[in-house]
Amino acid sequence: MSVKFIDIHTHKDYTHFDVIRLYSFRMVPEQAVQPVSGPFACGVHPWDTDTPNLNELLIQLNDYNNLHAIGECGFDKYRGGAFEIQEQAFRYQVNLSERKHKPLIIHCIGYYNELITLYKQLQPTQKWIVHGFNAHPNLAVQLINAGIYLSFGVAMANPLAKAAASIKVVPQNRLFLETDEANCSIQDVYKLAANHRNESVETIKHTIYKSYISLFES
Ligand SMILES: [Zn+2]
Repeated sequence: MSVKFIDIHTHKDYTHFDVIRLYSFRMVPEQAVQPVSGPFACGVHPWDTDTPNLNELLIQLNDYNNLHAIGECGFDKYRGGAFEIQEQAFRYQVNLSERKHKPLIIHCIGYYNELITLYKQLQPTQKWIVHGFNAHPNLAVQLINAGIYLSFGVAMANPLAKAAASIKVVPQNRLFLETDEANCSIQDVYKLAANHRNESVETIKHTIYKSYISLFES
């Protein structure tokens, strides 16, 4: 079994022999999901929770069976519908993740305490991954202690970014990396992470690969 780089969250449909990338579709009204090669995730983004077609979107999502993960879904304090609507859409997708036995990719801006409360209340069997984490290390620790995984992207290239400090406190077995919408390679993101954590790219490559495999075991 060859160990590959894992790009846990990307909106670019690319292929590379040494990378497994989890392509992320954002469900939008009246637009069918385009087929891509390799694993993909589908979700109703919190930004889209203010659409009048929200229920149709969620039902449409329910109808997909060959996806590998649910998301991105979650919460955004500054965009999308009211918190109550975002929470409804999120709970629906948590439910899908549990029923379909697929991990959950989460977008969370603000509302971290609410997310942790929901995790403790719902006690999901599937793994939750907060993608694009760029908040304070204290919050990182709280999410980790609750049982949630964190994924980091190019934000940590800025040494002053909170992500640059937070990635240092995440245990190896709770860490993922991603390109999201950035114009860089996942290998570059691994190098950034390795520098911040004082670890080798090879070590990180091995542990993240193991974590990725474990996502699909429950
Ligand atoms: Zn994204």
